[in-house]
Amino acid sequence: MNKLCTRLKYEKYVLDAMSMTAWHCYRCNLTFKDKTHVDMHKEIARHDARQVEIAQ
Ligand SMILES: [Zn+2]
Repeated sequence: MNKLCTRLKYEKYVLDAMSMTAWHCYRCNLTFKDKTHVDMHKEIARHDARQVEIAQ
C-alpha cells in the first residue's frame, strides 16, 4: 500500500515536471507563461486568455 502511494506521488511529480501551466489567447494566438503578462494583456487588449497545460 505504501509502495503504491509512493509510486503515485512519483508519477504525479513526473507529470508536473513535464508540463506547466500557461495561458493562451485564442484571439491573438499567443501563449503566456507568466500570469502577470496575462493580466497585462487582459488590460491592454481586453482579451481573456484560457488556462492550458503545455509541455516544457
Ligand atoms: Zn489577445
